[in-house]
Amino acid sequence: MLKDQDRIFTNLYGMHDRTLKGAQARGHWDGTAEIIQRGRDTIIDQMKASGLRGRGGAGFPTGLKWSFMPKESDGRPAYLVINADESEPGTCKDREIMRHDPHTLIEGALIASFAMNAHTSYIYIRGEYIREREALQNAIDEAYDAGLLGKNAAGSGWDFDLFLHHGAGAYICGEETALLESLEGKKGMPRMKPPFPAGAGLYGCPTTVNNVESIAVVPTILRRGPEWFAGFGRPNNAGTKIFGISGHVNNPCVVEEEMSISFEELIEKHCGGIRGGWDNLLAVIPGGSSVPCVRGENMRDAVMDFDALREVGSSLGTAAVIVMDKSVDPIKAIWRLSKFYKHESCGQCTPCREGTGWMMRVMDRLVKGEAELEEIDMLFDVTKQVEGHTICALGDAAAWPIQGLIRNFREEIEDRIKAQKTGRMGAMAAE
Ligand code: SF4
Repeated sequence: MLKDQDRIFTNLYGMHDRTLKGAQARGHWDGTAEIIQRGRDTIIDQMKASGLRGRGGAGFPTGLKWSFMPKESDGRPAYLVINADESEPGTCKDREIMRHDPHTLIEGALIASFAMNAHTSYIYIRGEYIREREALQNAIDEAYDAGLLGKNAAGSGWDFDLFLHHGAGAYICGEETALLESLEGKKGMPRMKPPFPAGAGLYGCPTTVNNVESIAVVPTILRRGPEWFAGFGRPNNAGTKIFGISGHVNNPCVVEEEMSISFEELIEKHCGGIRGGWDNLLAVIPGGSSVPCVRGENMRDAVMDFDALREVGSSLGTAAVIVMDKSVDPIKAIWRLSKFYKHESCGQCTPCREGTGWMMRVMDRLVKGEAELEEIDMLFDVTKQVEGHTICALGDAAAWPIQGLIRNFREEIEDRIKAQKTGRMGAMAAE
Protein backbone atom coordinates (compact mmCIF):
# COMPACT_ATOMS: atom_id res chain seq x y z
CA MET A 1 0.00 0.00 0.00
CA LEU A 2 1.28 3.46 -0.90
CA LYS A 3 2.77 5.32 2.07
CA ASP A 4 1.61 8.82 2.86
CA GLN A 5 5.04 10.30 2.17
CA ASP A 6 4.95 8.86 -1.35
CA ARG A 7 1.68 10.46 -2.33
CA ILE A 8 1.98 13.08 -5.06
CA PHE A 9 -1.47 14.48 -4.41
CA THR A 10 -1.43 15.55 -0.81
CA ASN A 11 -4.80 17.26 -0.90
CA LEU A 12 -6.85 14.87 -3.01
CA TYR A 13 -9.64 14.83 -0.45
CA GLY A 14 -9.77 18.61 -0.05
CA MET A 15 -9.00 18.47 3.67
CA HIS A 16 -6.22 21.05 3.50
CA ASP A 17 -5.64 24.52 2.13
CA ARG A 18 -5.80 24.49 -1.67
CA THR A 19 -4.47 28.01 -2.11
CA LEU A 20 -0.94 28.77 -3.21
CA LYS A 21 0.15 29.18 0.38
CA GLY A 22 -1.17 25.75 1.28
CA ALA A 23 0.33 24.16 -1.84
CA GLN A 24 3.74 25.66 -1.09
CA ALA A 25 3.55 24.44 2.48
CA ARG A 26 3.06 20.92 1.09
CA GLY A 27 6.15 21.24 -1.09
CA HIS A 28 4.74 22.31 -4.43
CA TRP A 29 6.46 25.09 -6.42
CA ASP A 30 9.67 24.20 -4.62
CA GLY A 31 12.75 24.66 -6.82
CA THR A 32 10.75 25.00 -10.04
CA ALA A 33 13.34 27.29 -11.59
CA GLU A 34 16.09 24.78 -10.80
CA ILE A 35 14.14 22.03 -12.55
CA ILE A 36 13.72 24.21 -15.65
CA GLN A 37 17.39 25.12 -15.62
CA ARG A 38 18.26 21.44 -16.06
CA GLY A 39 17.33 22.02 -19.69
CA ARG A 40 14.93 20.54 -22.12
CA ASP A 41 16.82 17.35 -22.99
CA THR A 42 17.46 16.41 -19.39
CA ILE A 43 13.83 16.92 -18.43
CA ILE A 44 12.61 14.77 -21.32
CA ASP A 45 15.20 12.10 -20.54
CA GLN A 46 14.15 12.08 -16.89
CA MET A 47 10.49 11.79 -17.85
CA LYS A 48 11.34 8.85 -20.08
CA ALA A 49 13.35 7.24 -17.28
CA SER A 50 10.44 7.64 -14.85
CA GLY A 51 8.37 5.28 -17.01
CA LEU A 52 5.29 7.52 -16.80
CA ARG A 53 2.61 6.43 -19.24
CA GLY A 54 -0.22 8.80 -20.15
CA ARG A 55 -3.00 8.80 -17.59
CA GLY A 56 -5.83 9.72 -19.98
CA GLY A 57 -6.53 6.15 -21.02
CA ALA A 58 -4.20 5.18 -23.86
CA GLY A 59 -1.08 4.75 -21.69
CA PHE A 60 1.40 6.11 -24.23
CA PRO A 61 4.80 6.95 -22.66
CA THR A 62 4.72 10.64 -21.76
CA GLY A 63 8.43 11.44 -22.19
CA LEU A 64 8.45 9.84 -25.61
CA LYS A 65 5.40 11.86 -26.64
CA TRP A 66 7.14 15.07 -25.61
CA SER A 67 10.18 14.12 -27.66
CA PHE A 68 8.07 14.20 -30.84
CA MET A 69 7.82 17.98 -30.60
CA PRO A 70 10.25 19.90 -32.83
CA LYS A 71 13.48 20.82 -31.06
CA GLU A 72 13.84 24.06 -33.00
CA SER A 73 10.92 26.25 -34.01
CA ASP A 74 10.42 26.81 -37.75
CA GLY A 75 8.79 30.11 -36.87
CA ARG A 76 5.53 28.60 -35.61
CA PRO A 77 4.81 28.64 -31.88
CA ALA A 78 4.40 25.35 -30.01
CA TYR A 79 1.56 24.59 -27.62
CA LEU A 80 0.81 22.31 -24.72
CA VAL A 81 -2.89 21.56 -24.47
CA ILE A 82 -4.12 19.89 -21.31
CA ASN A 83 -7.13 17.66 -21.69
CA ALA A 84 -9.42 18.28 -18.73
CA ASP A 85 -12.56 17.22 -20.59
CA GLU A 86 -13.01 14.31 -18.22
CA SER A 87 -16.21 12.82 -19.63
CA GLU A 88 -15.77 9.05 -19.70
CA PRO A 89 -18.56 7.60 -17.56
CA GLY A 90 -17.15 6.45 -14.24
CA THR A 91 -14.12 8.73 -14.43
CA CYS A 92 -13.78 11.53 -11.90
CA LYS A 93 -10.08 11.62 -10.94
CA ASP A 94 -8.87 14.79 -12.68
CA ARG A 95 -11.71 16.62 -11.03
CA GLU A 96 -10.15 16.05 -7.60
CA ILE A 97 -6.82 17.40 -8.81
CA MET A 98 -8.37 20.53 -10.26
CA ARG A 99 -10.58 21.42 -7.35
CA HIS A 100 -8.38 20.39 -4.45
CA ASP A 101 -4.76 20.35 -5.65
CA PRO A 102 -4.73 22.73 -8.65
CA HIS A 103 -1.17 23.96 -8.18
CA THR A 104 0.21 20.52 -9.06
CA LEU A 105 -1.30 20.99 -12.51
CA ILE A 106 -0.22 24.60 -12.96
CA GLU A 107 3.37 23.92 -11.98
CA GLY A 108 3.37 20.85 -14.24
CA ALA A 109 2.04 22.93 -17.13
CA LEU A 110 4.96 25.35 -16.82
CA ILE A 111 7.63 22.64 -16.69
CA ALA A 112 6.09 20.51 -19.46
CA SER A 113 5.61 23.54 -21.71
CA PHE A 114 9.23 24.54 -21.23
CA ALA A 115 10.30 20.99 -22.15
CA MET A 116 8.34 21.28 -25.38
CA ASN A 117 9.38 24.81 -26.26
CA ALA A 118 5.88 26.17 -25.65
CA HIS A 119 5.30 29.63 -24.22
CA THR A 120 1.55 29.08 -24.11
CA SER A 121 -0.61 26.32 -22.73
CA TYR A 122 -4.37 25.82 -22.70
CA ILE A 123 -6.38 23.74 -20.29
CA TYR A 124 -9.63 22.55 -21.86
CA ILE A 125 -12.05 21.79 -19.04
CA ARG A 126 -15.39 20.06 -19.50
CA GLY A 127 -18.46 22.28 -19.46
CA GLU A 128 -20.06 20.58 -16.49
CA TYR A 129 -17.07 21.23 -14.23
CA ILE A 130 -18.13 24.70 -13.13
CA ARG A 131 -16.83 24.69 -9.55
CA GLU A 132 -13.62 23.00 -10.68
CA ARG A 133 -13.11 25.72 -13.26
CA GLU A 134 -13.58 28.38 -10.62
CA ALA A 135 -11.07 26.71 -8.29
CA LEU A 136 -8.55 26.28 -11.07
CA GLN A 137 -8.95 29.83 -12.36
CA ASN A 138 -8.45 31.18 -8.83
CA ALA A 139 -5.26 29.16 -8.58
CA ILE A 140 -4.04 30.43 -11.97
CA ASP A 141 -4.75 34.02 -10.90
CA GLU A 142 -2.82 33.46 -7.69
CA ALA A 143 0.11 32.04 -9.63
CA TYR A 144 0.17 35.08 -11.92
CA ASP A 145 0.06 37.43 -8.92
CA ALA A 146 2.98 35.59 -7.35
CA GLY A 147 5.07 35.74 -10.54
CA LEU A 148 4.90 31.97 -11.05
CA LEU A 149 3.20 32.47 -14.41
CA GLY A 150 3.74 35.22 -16.97
CA LYS A 151 7.09 36.81 -17.83
CA ASN A 152 10.07 34.99 -16.34
CA ALA A 153 7.72 32.46 -14.78
CA ALA A 154 8.85 31.37 -11.29
CA GLY A 155 12.17 33.11 -11.92
CA SER A 156 13.07 30.49 -14.50
CA GLY A 157 13.82 32.87 -17.36
CA TRP A 158 10.94 31.30 -19.36
CA ASP A 159 7.91 33.40 -20.34
CA PHE A 160 4.76 31.38 -19.99
CA ASP A 161 1.02 31.98 -20.23
CA LEU A 162 -1.66 29.54 -19.14
CA PHE A 163 -5.30 29.84 -20.25
CA LEU A 164 -8.32 27.94 -19.02
CA HIS A 165 -10.94 27.20 -21.67
CA HIS A 166 -14.42 25.98 -20.88
CA GLY A 167 -16.01 23.27 -23.05
CA ALA A 168 -19.72 23.00 -23.73
CA GLY A 169 -20.43 19.46 -22.62
CA ALA A 170 -19.78 17.13 -25.56
CA TYR A 171 -18.03 13.84 -24.78
CA ILE A 172 -16.29 13.78 -28.14
CA CYS A 173 -14.33 16.93 -27.26
CA GLY A 174 -12.21 14.70 -25.02
CA GLU A 175 -10.74 13.16 -28.18
CA GLU A 176 -7.56 15.11 -28.70
CA THR A 177 -8.14 16.41 -32.22
CA ALA A 178 -11.82 17.18 -31.58
CA LEU A 179 -10.61 19.08 -28.53
CA LEU A 180 -8.28 21.15 -30.72
CA GLU A 181 -11.10 21.89 -33.18
CA SER A 182 -13.31 22.99 -30.31
CA LEU A 183 -10.53 25.13 -28.85
CA GLU A 184 -10.23 26.84 -32.23
CA GLY A 185 -13.93 27.69 -32.02
CA LYS A 186 -15.20 25.05 -34.42
CA LYS A 187 -17.50 22.05 -33.97
CA GLY A 188 -15.79 19.34 -31.93
CA MET A 189 -15.23 16.82 -34.69
CA PRO A 190 -12.12 14.61 -34.68
CA ARG A 191 -9.54 15.17 -37.40
CA MET A 192 -8.02 12.52 -39.61
CA LYS A 193 -4.49 11.58 -38.55
CA PRO A 194 -1.86 12.14 -39.90
CA PRO A 195 -0.90 14.87 -39.52
CA PHE A 196 -0.47 14.24 -35.81
CA PRO A 197 -0.75 17.17 -33.41
CA ALA A 198 3.04 17.26 -32.83
CA GLY A 199 3.40 18.22 -36.49
CA ALA A 200 0.24 20.28 -36.99
CA GLY A 201 -2.07 20.66 -33.99
CA LEU A 202 -3.64 23.77 -32.53
CA TYR A 203 -3.90 26.50 -35.22
CA GLY A 204 -1.73 24.26 -37.40
CA CYS A 205 1.20 24.51 -34.98
CA PRO A 206 3.14 21.78 -33.13
CA THR A 207 1.02 20.70 -30.17
CA THR A 208 1.06 18.05 -27.50
CA VAL A 209 -2.17 17.09 -25.79
CA ASN A 210 -1.73 15.54 -22.35
CA ASN A 211 -4.15 14.45 -19.65
CA VAL A 212 -4.44 16.45 -16.39
CA GLU A 213 -2.99 13.71 -14.18
CA SER A 214 -0.06 13.14 -16.58
CA ILE A 215 0.95 16.79 -16.26
CA ALA A 216 0.17 17.19 -12.56
CA VAL A 217 2.59 14.41 -11.56
CA VAL A 218 5.52 15.94 -13.50
CA PRO A 219 6.90 18.37 -10.87
CA THR A 220 7.02 15.74 -8.13
CA ILE A 221 8.66 13.19 -10.42
CA LEU A 222 11.36 15.69 -11.33
CA ARG A 223 11.82 16.85 -7.73
CA ARG A 224 12.08 13.35 -6.26
CA GLY A 225 13.80 11.79 -9.23
CA PRO A 226 12.71 9.40 -11.96
CA GLU A 227 14.01 6.36 -10.05
CA TRP A 228 11.67 7.13 -7.18
CA PHE A 229 8.62 7.10 -9.49
CA ALA A 230 9.86 4.10 -11.46
CA GLY A 231 10.15 2.21 -8.15
CA PHE A 232 6.37 1.78 -7.92
CA GLY A 233 4.48 -0.83 -9.91
CA ARG A 234 5.74 -3.57 -12.17
CA PRO A 235 8.19 -2.90 -15.00
CA ASN A 236 6.56 -0.98 -17.86
CA ASN A 237 3.72 0.02 -15.53
CA ALA A 238 5.51 2.45 -13.29
CA GLY A 239 4.38 4.95 -10.76
CA THR A 240 1.52 5.94 -8.58
CA LYS A 241 -1.94 6.28 -10.07
CA ILE A 242 -5.25 7.77 -9.11
CA PHE A 243 -8.02 5.19 -9.06
CA GLY A 244 -11.68 6.17 -8.95
CA ILE A 245 -13.85 3.36 -7.60
CA SER A 246 -17.60 3.63 -8.00
CA GLY A 247 -20.59 1.33 -7.84
CA HIS A 248 -21.27 -1.47 -5.41
CA VAL A 249 -18.45 -1.15 -2.92
CA ASN A 250 -19.10 -0.06 0.63
CA ASN A 251 -17.19 3.22 0.27
CA PRO A 252 -16.76 4.49 -3.28
CA CYS A 253 -13.70 6.75 -3.43
CA VAL A 254 -10.97 8.38 -5.46
CA VAL A 255 -7.55 7.38 -4.16
CA GLU A 256 -3.90 7.54 -5.17
CA GLU A 257 -2.26 4.13 -5.01
CA GLU A 258 0.72 2.26 -6.27
CA MET A 259 0.35 0.85 -9.79
CA SER A 260 0.02 -2.93 -9.98
CA ILE A 261 -1.90 -3.16 -6.69
CA SER A 262 -4.26 -6.11 -6.78
CA PHE A 263 -7.95 -5.44 -7.27
CA GLU A 264 -8.77 -7.17 -4.00
CA GLU A 265 -6.32 -5.05 -2.03
CA LEU A 266 -7.57 -1.85 -3.65
CA ILE A 267 -11.17 -2.67 -2.74
CA GLU A 268 -10.47 -3.97 0.76
CA LYS A 269 -8.05 -1.21 1.81
CA HIS A 270 -9.89 1.77 0.42
CA CYS A 271 -13.49 0.87 -0.29
CA GLY A 272 -14.46 -1.28 2.68
CA GLY A 273 -15.05 -4.33 0.49
CA ILE A 274 -17.73 -5.33 -1.99
CA ARG A 275 -21.34 -4.66 -1.00
CA GLY A 276 -22.64 -7.97 0.30
CA GLY A 277 -19.19 -9.61 0.21
CA TRP A 278 -17.00 -11.05 -2.53
CA ASP A 279 -19.51 -13.74 -3.41
CA ASN A 280 -21.88 -10.97 -4.40
CA LEU A 281 -19.51 -9.51 -7.02
CA LEU A 282 -20.89 -9.88 -10.53
CA ALA A 283 -18.61 -7.89 -12.83
CA VAL A 284 -16.15 -5.04 -12.98
CA ILE A 285 -15.42 -2.46 -15.63
CA PRO A 286 -11.84 -1.64 -14.62
CA GLY A 287 -10.97 1.41 -16.70
CA GLY A 288 -13.92 3.64 -17.54
CA SER A 289 -17.02 2.77 -19.53
CA SER A 290 -15.28 2.09 -22.85
CA VAL A 291 -13.27 -0.91 -21.71
CA PRO A 292 -14.71 -4.45 -21.65
CA CYS A 293 -16.19 -5.74 -18.41
CA VAL A 294 -14.61 -8.67 -16.57
CA ARG A 295 -16.50 -11.29 -14.57
CA GLY A 296 -16.14 -10.89 -10.82
CA GLU A 297 -14.41 -14.24 -10.30
CA ASN A 298 -11.69 -13.29 -12.80
CA MET A 299 -11.24 -9.88 -11.29
CA ARG A 300 -10.56 -10.62 -7.63
CA ASP A 301 -6.87 -11.48 -8.14
CA ALA A 302 -6.32 -9.18 -11.11
CA VAL A 303 -3.40 -6.77 -10.97
CA MET A 304 -4.37 -3.18 -11.65
CA ASP A 305 -1.98 -2.06 -14.38
CA PHE A 306 -1.83 -1.66 -18.14
CA ASP A 307 -0.36 -5.04 -19.03
CA ALA A 308 -2.12 -7.23 -16.48
CA LEU A 309 -5.62 -6.01 -17.28
CA ARG A 310 -4.97 -6.74 -20.93
CA GLU A 311 -4.37 -10.35 -19.89
CA VAL A 312 -7.90 -10.56 -18.43
CA GLY A 313 -9.37 -9.16 -21.63
CA SER A 314 -9.78 -5.57 -20.54
CA SER A 315 -7.71 -2.44 -20.02
CA LEU A 316 -6.63 0.01 -17.31
CA GLY A 317 -8.01 2.95 -19.33
CA THR A 318 -8.52 5.86 -16.96
CA ALA A 319 -8.49 3.53 -13.90
CA ALA A 320 -12.14 4.34 -13.29
CA VAL A 321 -13.23 1.12 -11.66
CA ILE A 322 -16.97 0.45 -11.91
CA VAL A 323 -18.04 -2.37 -9.60
CA MET A 324 -21.31 -4.22 -10.17
CA ASP A 325 -22.81 -6.64 -7.68
CA LYS A 326 -25.41 -9.29 -8.35
CA SER A 327 -28.28 -6.84 -8.18
CA VAL A 328 -27.21 -5.60 -11.62
CA ASP A 329 -28.63 -6.78 -14.91
CA PRO A 330 -25.40 -6.84 -16.94
CA ILE A 331 -27.24 -6.70 -20.28
CA LYS A 332 -29.10 -3.60 -19.23
CA ALA A 333 -25.93 -2.00 -17.84
CA ILE A 334 -24.10 -2.39 -21.14
CA TRP A 335 -27.21 -1.30 -23.07
CA ARG A 336 -27.04 1.97 -21.14
CA LEU A 337 -23.46 2.48 -22.29
CA SER A 338 -24.48 1.74 -25.89
CA LYS A 339 -27.10 4.44 -25.61
CA PHE A 340 -24.47 6.85 -24.35
CA TYR A 341 -22.04 6.21 -27.20
CA LYS A 342 -24.80 6.42 -29.78
CA HIS A 343 -25.77 9.79 -28.36
CA GLU A 344 -22.19 11.08 -28.35
CA SER A 345 -21.13 9.96 -31.84
CA CYS A 346 -20.23 13.06 -33.83
CA GLY A 347 -21.63 11.39 -36.93
CA GLN A 348 -18.90 12.11 -39.44
CA CYS A 349 -17.97 8.50 -40.22
CA THR A 350 -20.47 5.92 -41.32
CA PRO A 351 -19.45 2.84 -39.24
CA CYS A 352 -19.75 4.88 -36.04
CA ARG A 353 -22.80 6.96 -36.95
CA GLU A 354 -24.80 3.98 -38.19
CA GLY A 355 -23.10 1.27 -36.14
CA THR A 356 -23.64 2.86 -32.72
CA GLY A 357 -27.37 3.21 -33.44
CA TRP A 358 -27.58 -0.30 -34.86
CA MET A 359 -25.80 -1.81 -31.88
CA MET A 360 -27.93 0.12 -29.43
CA ARG A 361 -31.14 -1.07 -31.08
CA VAL A 362 -30.05 -4.71 -30.89
CA MET A 363 -29.08 -4.15 -27.26
CA ASP A 364 -32.58 -2.70 -26.66
CA ARG A 365 -34.03 -6.03 -27.72
CA LEU A 366 -31.46 -8.17 -25.90
CA VAL A 367 -32.41 -6.52 -22.63
CA LYS A 368 -35.93 -7.82 -23.13
CA GLY A 369 -34.85 -11.08 -24.72
CA GLU A 370 -36.72 -10.18 -27.88
CA ALA A 371 -34.15 -11.49 -30.32
CA GLU A 372 -33.00 -14.62 -32.08
CA LEU A 373 -30.00 -16.55 -30.78
CA GLU A 374 -28.11 -15.95 -34.05
CA GLU A 375 -28.29 -12.24 -33.45
CA ILE A 376 -25.73 -12.52 -30.67
CA ASP A 377 -23.04 -13.53 -33.16
CA MET A 378 -24.35 -11.00 -35.64
CA LEU A 379 -24.03 -8.24 -33.03
CA PHE A 380 -20.49 -9.36 -32.19
CA ASP A 381 -19.65 -9.27 -35.87
CA VAL A 382 -20.97 -5.73 -36.22
CA THR A 383 -18.85 -4.58 -33.27
CA LYS A 384 -15.83 -5.97 -35.16
CA GLN A 385 -16.81 -4.01 -38.25
CA VAL A 386 -17.02 -0.79 -36.25
CA GLU A 387 -13.84 -1.37 -34.22
CA GLY A 388 -10.78 0.01 -35.96
CA HIS A 389 -12.75 1.35 -38.94
CA THR A 390 -13.45 4.85 -37.76
CA ILE A 391 -11.64 8.19 -37.61
CA CYS A 392 -11.41 8.25 -33.84
CA ALA A 393 -11.61 5.81 -30.96
CA LEU A 394 -15.27 6.44 -30.16
CA GLY A 395 -16.12 3.60 -32.52
CA ASP A 396 -13.91 1.27 -30.48
CA ALA A 397 -15.34 2.65 -27.25
CA ALA A 398 -18.84 1.74 -28.41
CA ALA A 399 -17.78 -1.72 -29.60
CA TRP A 400 -15.69 -2.96 -26.66
CA PRO A 401 -18.32 -2.94 -23.88
CA ILE A 402 -20.61 -5.07 -26.06
CA GLN A 403 -17.78 -7.46 -26.92
CA GLY A 404 -17.03 -7.76 -23.20
CA LEU A 405 -20.68 -8.50 -22.47
CA ILE A 406 -20.93 -11.22 -25.11
CA ARG A 407 -17.63 -12.81 -24.10
CA ASN A 408 -18.51 -12.87 -20.41
CA PHE A 409 -22.29 -13.10 -20.22
CA ARG A 410 -23.32 -15.03 -23.30
CA GLU A 411 -25.20 -17.58 -21.26
CA GLU A 412 -27.28 -14.87 -19.59
CA ILE A 413 -28.14 -13.34 -22.97
CA GLU A 414 -29.14 -16.72 -24.38
CA ASP A 415 -31.19 -17.61 -21.30
CA ARG A 416 -33.13 -14.41 -21.61
CA ILE A 417 -33.92 -15.00 -25.27
CA LYS A 418 -35.04 -18.55 -24.49
CA ALA A 419 -37.12 -17.40 -21.53
CA GLN A 420 -38.82 -14.81 -23.69
CA LYS A 421 -39.65 -17.43 -26.31
CA THR A 422 -41.12 -19.82 -23.75
CA GLY A 423 -42.91 -17.08 -21.86
CA ARG A 424 -40.84 -17.65 -18.71
CA MET A 425 -39.25 -14.24 -18.29
CA GLY A 426 -37.85 -13.42 -14.87
CA ALA A 427 -39.30 -10.40 -13.16
CA MET A 428 -36.10 -8.38 -13.46
CA ALA A 429 -35.53 -8.99 -17.15
CA ALA A 430 -39.14 -8.31 -18.01
CA GLU A 431 -39.09 -4.79 -16.54
FE1 SF4 B 1 -17.16 10.95 -35.06
FE2 SF4 B 1 -17.61 8.42 -34.32
FE3 SF4 B 1 -16.13 8.91 -36.40
FE4 SF4 B 1 -15.21 9.50 -33.98
S1 SF4 B 1 -15.64 7.47 -34.75
S2 SF4 B 1 -15.06 10.75 -35.80
S3 SF4 B 1 -17.14 10.13 -32.99
S4 SF4 B 1 -18.32 9.43 -36.19
